[in-house]
Amino acid sequence: MNIVLIGPPGIGKGTAAVKLSKKLNIPHIATGDMLRENVANKTELGIKAKSLMDKGALVPDDLVIGMIKERLQRDDCKNGFILDGFPRTINQAEEIAKVVKTDRVVNIQASDDVIVDRLSKRKVCEQCGFTYHLEYIKPNREGICDKCSGMLYQREDDKPEAVKERLKVYKEKTEPLINYYKEKGLIVAVDGSGTPEEEFELVLKAVS
Ligand SMILES: [Zn+2]
Repeated sequence: MNIVLIGPPGIGKGTAAVKLSKKLNIPHIATGDMLRENVANKTELGIKAKSLMDKGALVPDDLVIGMIKERLQRDDCKNGFILDGFPRTINQAEEIAKVVKTDRVVNIQASDDVIVDRLSKRKVCEQCGFTYHLEYIKPNREGICDKCSGMLYQREDDKPEAVKERLKVYKEKTEPLINYYKEKGLIVAVDGSGTPEEEFELVLKAVS
């Protein structure tokens, strides 16, 4: 099954996608991770993307579309895939439709307050990039990574002002996409305000 996960930043799409990928044995394709790899490796795309992401803005279509199209046509996507964080615009959805068919679009939702609160508790290791959450994935020692003893920090785009900007951008750019998929009858809405476990059960139900 070819699945698209939609939802605002901080809704827990990534966590749900990782579990779903294991359960259904199909790849999890996260544009965020693909972009962060490019940023870490300081590729041309990565340098451009970083300045935009730090401001809470979206990375332009043409930088991302080619990368995703190529990924979806690899052999491991033959039995399906989970697209996480892409498409974000109708244009991107139409570009994807040129190379693959989408079977189900899961729209995970929660209020802005829930999201701002949740992202304020997210911390990232400056060495290995592992992401902790002070409620759900706590490090054993405060402020220090369990895996590599690196220092944990808050990403610029997880700070409340940046989160509010990201949610504003998300609504402006992505909500038309939700209507686009609704018209095609592909959308299933899921409540993302519960625990990661509750959210995963709802997502699993939505694709079953
Ligand atoms: Zn680490």
